[in-house]
Amino acid sequence: MVIIMKHNATAQEIANAMKRVQELGFEPHPIIGEERTIIGVVGDERPVEPDVFDILDGVERTVRVLHPFKLASREFHPEGSVVRVNGTTLGTNQVIIMAGPCSIESREQLFEAAHAVQEAGATILRAGAYKPRTSPYSFQGMGLKGLELLKEVRDTLHLPTITEVMAPQEVALVAQYTDILQIGARNMQNFALLQAVGQIQKPVLLKRGMMSTIEELLMAAEYILSNGNARVMLCERGIRTYETATRNTFDINAIPVLKALTHLPVIADPSHGTGRWDLVAPIARGAVAAGADGLIIEVHPHPAHAMSDGAQSLKPEKFAQLVQEVKRVAAAVGRSA
Ligand code: PEP
Ligand code: MN
Repeated sequence: MVIIMKHNATAQEIANAMKRVQELGFEPHPIIGEERTIIGVVGDERPVEPDVFDILDGVERTVRVLHPFKLASREFHPEGSVVRVNGTTLGTNQVIIMAGPCSIESREQLFEAAHAVQEAGATILRAGAYKPRTSPYSFQGMGLKGLELLKEVRDTLHLPTITEVMAPQEVALVAQYTDILQIGARNMQNFALLQAVGQIQKPVLLKRGMMSTIEELLMAAEYILSNGNARVMLCERGIRTYETATRNTFDINAIPVLKALTHLPVIADPSHGTGRWDLVAPIARGAVAAGADGLIIEVHPHPAHAMSDGAQSLKPEKFAQLVQEVKRVAAAVGRSA
């Protein structure tokens, strides 16, 4: 069950509702959203009728949610959630484009990539400092030095950033350097990490595990939400199938399925979704037509020399072309980009 407080509910009314939840033997999970506070009621709620909470001051309504994911479900939050990131808002009619290199490699590389994507129309810079690599012998990212460069570029170009965090003990540090924290596909079910990002108030982009179902993705989001962070976005980045022509199989179905099941913004990653630069633009266009709230795309000034994911990285000119195409597709489906 989920208790939705009124817009103008006071701190005292919220505290009273939480106290009532505890008196009835449940655990309250408050989530402080941009617009209102929501209280998740955790426990076997079947014997209780929602009106025991409806009558309390400051309560707008109480909803019984049938899905195992409660706070992520559209049932209790019928309107789409918006996530504000430093001047850019995700989850509106406008498709937001995040772009940049897979990894931060040097100051020159990051500035060059950032300038290029900003000029082409991206409003959020992506770049990894901590890289989850299959081989321990592959480039692991620049770490803290990379975060420092990311912040320097962010502050110089006034371009909000997203970067991956891989360990719970690094959440506080990474959060000081970026606007959005990315949870990578390989960590989608790292529950300690999900709890750690749930305990801070910073936007989180949660990527779908390469072998995870949509329901598992939503349950992972539920970990973040139930720990108190409402600023969650989901990302379809391709799943592993028997197909070998592409690195992953971009699950376009996931976009409208997620849009129906959850109020959280849905972002598409056609770079990891395909693994091939020549497929990135067509899949980006398809994802926007299917209803994605945003795109996250790998762009490198010199893909042939990239230290990770060069094969799926776009050159700046190709990215600029993609942005123009995406604008036309967005307009065709009644949106903007
Ligand atoms: C990335 O964004 O560079 C990345 C490693 O993505 P994923 O976790 O989806 O593989
Ligand atoms: Mn990558």
